[in-house]
Amino acid sequence: MKIIQKCPICNSVQLRELYRKTYVYPGDNIESNLINGNFVRLYILFNYIIQNRTPVQFTIMICKNCGFIFLNPRLEAQDIEVKYRMINQFGSVRERLKKHPPFNLDKRAAAIYRRICAQIGSEPIGCKILDFGGASGYNLRSFVHHNKCYLVDYEKWEIPPDIEHLGCTLNNVPQEMKFDIILCCQVFEHLIDPRGILRELVARLTTSGLLYIELPLGCFREFKHIGNPITHINFFSSASFSSLFSECSVNIKSIDVGLRWMLHNRALCLTAIAQKNRHSFPPTYRGSYKDTLRQMRNPLYYLVLIYNRILRALRI
Ligand SMILES: [Zn+2]
Repeated sequence: MKIIQKCPICNSVQLRELYRKTYVYPGDNIESNLINGNFVRLYILFNYIIQNRTPVQFTIMICKNCGFIFLNPRLEAQDIEVKYRMINQFGSVRERLKKHPPFNLDKRAAAIYRRICAQIGSEPIGCKILDFGGASGYNLRSFVHHNKCYLVDYEKWEIPPDIEHLGCTLNNVPQEMKFDIILCCQVFEHLIDPRGILRELVARLTTSGLLYIELPLGCFREFKHIGNPITHINFFSSASFSSLFSECSVNIKSIDVGLRWMLHNRALCLTAIAQKNRHSFPPTYRGSYKDTLRQMRNPLYYLVLIYNRILRALRI
């Protein structure tokens, strides 16, 4: 792990500390706690990443230039490799999903499909589609009938025969392979190098290819409730996510905030769509620190969360 002095998005050194949080060793009983995501990750952090059971302090920082909120110290590439190797070895994610099976995957896949169709103006047919970080391929359910679908994911899942697993990272994908549509859902909040991955994803698009990115609106409440420091390490706002695109000279077609279906329920998410050669916002568009502060405190989002609770209670 490494303490950084510059914003991972815009390289500014104008960083402000929001708060500090100390994490303690969760105990040795990993077998009885496999479905507890925070327990497993803290167990991996202390035993395999820092290899020391002394309580460890993390700082939650905000960049005063682009408004990006992030955890410091940051995981490094070798830490990520250890983290996913151990999660795979324990089988903890699969165990958790076995105990609490997702039940809204069709709604989730259909919603993503509708948004893609709305962007391209028709249903995608004969396209090459990649889901980067796509787990068992559930986001691709609505695409598989008329398109060739591929997956890249660190974890090994059982995937349907009409989806091809290309490897753990984009390095495993042949350089010449390009995609008409790339989905990247609930991934950017985990990445140690969001700029590098965004550039790599855009480089993998065909000339008019479309990139669909969905992630939690981390700047609203989530950054104050971090159960473990090795799962979500980035807490984006609309402003900081726009700045990320700007830093990578990528045009955004749209960026919005709304309730999105997750594995079990809806959650407040950011969705950004970029399309090569077609755009609404030029790459010079970027958000600011003040935009993030406003979004962190936006009272309308509390109303959205209440609305979401009512929907859940009514099982809608
Ligand atoms: Zn920044």
